[in-house]
Amino acid sequence: MVERPSSVVKELVENSIDAGATSIVVEIKNGGITYIRVTDNGKGITKDDLEIAFERHATSKIRSSDDLLKIMTMGFRGEALASIAAIANVELVSCSSSEDIGNKIVIEAGDILLKEECGCPKGTSITVNNLFFNTPVRYKFLKKDFTEAGYIEDILSKIALVNTNIAFKLINSGKVVLSTSGNGDLKTVIHNIYGRDISENIIDVDYIYDNIKIKGVVGKPSIARSNRNNQITYVNKRNIKNKTVSSAIDEAYKTIIPNGKFGFVVLNIEIDPSLVDVNVHPAKLEVRFQNESDVFKAIYHATKNALLGSDLSRIISESEEKQYDMNKKVIQDTIKQGEKLENKLKEFDNRINNITISTSDKEQILATLYENYVVENKYEEKKIVGENSLNEKQEEYITDNQSNNEININKYTEDDRLTNNQQNINLFANEENNVKEYKYIGTAFETYIIIEYMGQLYIIDQHALHERVMYEQVKNSYYSGNVLSQSTLLPEIITLTNKEFNVVKENMDLFSKSGYVIEEFGDNTIKITGVPYICFDINVKDLFMDILDELLGSTKTYKEEREEKFLSTIACKAAVKANMKLDPKEIDKLVMEALKLENPFSCPHGRPTAIKMSKYEIERKFGRK
Ligand code: ADP
Ligand code: MG
Repeated sequence: MVERPSSVVKELVENSIDAGATSIVVEIKNGGITYIRVTDNGKGITKDDLEIAFERHATSKIRSSDDLLKIMTMGFRGEALASIAAIANVELVSCSSSEDIGNKIVIEAGDILLKEECGCPKGTSITVNNLFFNTPVRYKFLKKDFTEAGYIEDILSKIALVNTNIAFKLINSGKVVLSTSGNGDLKTVIHNIYGRDISENIIDVDYIYDNIKIKGVVGKPSIARSNRNNQITYVNKRNIKNKTVSSAIDEAYKTIIPNGKFGFVVLNIEIDPSLVDVNVHPAKLEVRFQNESDVFKAIYHATKNALLGSDLSRIISESEEKQYDMNKKVIQDTIKQGEKLENKLKEFDNRINNITISTSDKEQILATLYENYVVENKYEEKKIVGENSLNEKQEEYITDNQSNNEININKYTEDDRLTNNQQNINLFANEENNVKEYKYIGTAFETYIIIEYMGQLYIIDQHALHERVMYEQVKNSYYSGNVLSQSTLLPEIITLTNKEFNVVKENMDLFSKSGYVIEEFGDNTIKITGVPYICFDINVKDLFMDILDELLGSTKTYKEEREEKFLSTIACKAAVKANMKLDPKEIDKLVMEALKLENPFSCPHGRPTAIKMSKYEIERKFGRK
């Protein structure tokens, strides 16, 4: 059934493959809705077969029992061209390898409008114009152009990954968005589609278990993602989905990657087609195997063996080296900036040294002078991200700075002044913010904060609360237009697939309004130099990829819903990644932040932040009331 432009592309490309093509070019406009052209160098269609090809059940492909098996797996029905021609304007130009001159036929809504001879290269080119023009209901269900284009790119990538001997090209509105060489090497195709970061972190799989052959690649832990988008599996070269296969992969990756992460895999299962359930609809991806446990074992061992047999350390790729060079420059700049600050500090020090006041007051004045200077000069406290070696250098610099001057900018941040004043008190009142007193009782199981607040006992899930507070912060900043962003010391350079890149571009306003500072940085590459203000100590790339995965998996189209989902994803992922081990100071800060919210412990969506029990309830339980 023709559901959307991508199903047309799939059918046409599969026909080209069946025709023995070694080069297939797909051109689309408006996500394929107004224009799809598939051109191949296959065996072509003879003049006599031209019209027949458009008749229903007109397949020319069942000739042997081998073909019959193929039918079962690939689902030849001989109706693709007929179905497409019924709902679009189709122009087919083909020159068969057995004829000297080519032919052209134009069909619209099933009627032949034109048939004539024409000169053309060997092979076939089919143009589909104005898909669904006569079926408005289906037309209505199409998504935005870029979404449909994304589906097409997805489908073509999946076909290209398993047909490494064929050169594929996808051209979207004149721009080449996918191009594979057809040199037969899977790694090259993966490089073409996913970029160097992925292609240099994959391990070959070539494994036989009984009569099941598993071939392809599995990714090292460093390129694992938070959804299954990058787990592509095939049965006899047909893209499939199967729970047994997924769980075998999960099992093999267990203990190697964190929970909730999914390894990158491209695996083809070669198996006797008669052992694959044929009752499943050919257009659907789900399949069943007659012997699921054999398939499980085959996939599990194939994956595990590959993972264990390889050196799992991440290979530093050229692009990372490039980034390293760039990072070095940023660090040097920062050090220069630091030196300037240091000199200023000495100057302040000299200035107040002659006055007779207590040391702590002196420190306070010094800090104020210093802070003002920093603010005036717009020096930001910068966050350190990047590789360990770089972090070390940076830390060295900071400690040097500290020992020389015994004072340091970090020492007098607002948070610290706050917590310094209340170091050993659990009771805290802050009239300014209208926050009432609360009493910190303790933390149970390193997770649940117990407090007494306005006559109630609260048991708070610190993760949920953290998430809630972050959500409110990022939401406030988002909707107030007063974007709170935090610069990353080292820019994060991330290479994406074309589809991911487009999703980022499409959602750029979401990213930037929530605090991300993202620039395009060459082909399918972005540079992140700022992150939402909540994301302390979080791996920038990891968080970004998680958010991107969420966007990729999201089907929500309404703006408000999308925004809300986006913001809550940031908060949720950031909270999870923050990996909290809170000390009393931090707990206090968190609870204080929460108490500033309107309904701190109620959470309209998702799981609750806290459970509460009134004094009355407790007394009743003890039979006092
Ligand atoms: P099926 O692929 O199931 O046979 P289709 O409707 O997709 O049915 O195609 C009908 C027929 O048209 C095919 O069997 C084949 O003979 C011919 N055909 C379609 N596309 C091509 C192509 N790109 N090159 C050569 N022959 C083609
Ligand atoms: Mg077909």
